[in-house]
Amino acid sequence: MAFKVPRGTQDILPEQTPKWQKVESILRQLTHVYRYKEIRTPIFEQTELFQRGVGDTTDIVQKEMYTFDDRGGRSLTLRPEGTASSVRAYVEHKMFGSPDQPVKLSYMGPMFRYERQQAGRYRQFVQFGVEAIGSSDPAIDAEVISLAMDIYQTVGLKDLKLVINSLGDKETREAHKTALIQHFEPSISEFCSDCQNRLAKNPLRILDCKKDHEHPLMKTAPALTDYLTESSAQYFADVKKYLDTLGITYVVDPNLVRGLDYYNHTAFEIMSTSEGFGAITTLCGGGRYNGLVEDIGGPDVPGIGFAMSIERLLLALEAEGVELDVEDHLDIYLVAMGDEAKLKSAELLSTFRAKGISADMDYVDRKMKAQMKSADRLSAKFVLVIGESELEEMSVNVKEMETGNQEKVPFSDLVNYVLEHK
Ligand code: ATP
Ligand code: MG
Repeated sequence: MAFKVPRGTQDILPEQTPKWQKVESILRQLTHVYRYKEIRTPIFEQTELFQRGVGDTTDIVQKEMYTFDDRGGRSLTLRPEGTASSVRAYVEHKMFGSPDQPVKLSYMGPMFRYERQQAGRYRQFVQFGVEAIGSSDPAIDAEVISLAMDIYQTVGLKDLKLVINSLGDKETREAHKTALIQHFEPSISEFCSDCQNRLAKNPLRILDCKKDHEHPLMKTAPALTDYLTESSAQYFADVKKYLDTLGITYVVDPNLVRGLDYYNHTAFEIMSTSEGFGAITTLCGGGRYNGLVEDIGGPDVPGIGFAMSIERLLLALEAEGVELDVEDHLDIYLVAMGDEAKLKSAELLSTFRAKGISADMDYVDRKMKAQMKSADRLSAKFVLVIGESELEEMSVNVKEMETGNQEKVPFSDLVNYVLEHK
């Protein structure tokens, strides 16, 4: 029997990991300059955390979670996203008591959702995300958005669209909810069963339905922005003012929603407008969640964050034909002829590596010619051929592959020579 990776998952092969590592290092660098500190939480949590933290009416909780009982009979779930865990840790470790506010967290790691497999949609995918907890200053909304944009621009993407909206405050949401129910109720039988359930519980989610999005009532649905209270309209205006000041271009889409009750004010998505990108265009989603911390058992503290998957970021790079500048070079390849020479080569390898010089040699008994070929295939910068005469003279010709230049260097000077010339 031949085994395969589980449906919806993928192996990231050695040829692909340099790209991943490059993206990861850009993410680390940017979170460092924006001062979001990394948090690492478990891959699984109590199921109830996600039921509460993500919300009972969401697709995630209703049909996408990997939930199982452990041997002690506890219901656990592989994390489908990172916000609930981050907020759980924030509450559990009483970070609200820290003098440094807001608490700015970042995370990166695998998430799990039982979804229908398609391009850009996996069952295991790597999400990077940030949370800023403890501030309801519109300036932090703009900071979070600008970090997300900065990430995509730094990796080299150009075809980007930032869409923002305001979900307003509690009062806004209540008034809008009533209007939505009035709007959809008479024709709700024309909608899918999910939407029928959403009508009473959380009608806002109807607007986010993937099945019924072409229904004519969707276009004429009451827009949240028409229900903004004065203070939420002001908040939205301030966020936009900060974005303008930062030179960040956006479009306002009154139909952009995030479905949970505790989401409020700012919501945003970043899409790829690249033609090659395919059906799913959202690269990143984020928003403000001023009721979540309290819902998870903490104090009434506001928060905002976003999440993006590395998989979709890499797909966008591919769609735009952007090549990441990945370094995967080999400084030195040692070609050894004979057992003695091999022994010396092993010794030299370790002295090179101790100085951070990447070096390799043959381990499968290749003939000299085949070893030279290996050096070529690995694009080694220098090749050193060590045989009897080199051992006698205690020196070796260092050949620079690109130019063909050779120079004789004593073994004892090799490290310095390479450090100077690499
Ligand atoms: P969608 O509408 O595409 O299902 P979502 O609302 O479920 O998105 P979020 O929960 O907001 O997505 O997740 C944030 C980001 O995580 C998405 O914008 C996307 O980049 C990424 N993401 C979500 N689900 C997947 C998946 N199954 N595979 C790869 N990336 C994903
Ligand atoms: Mg989804």
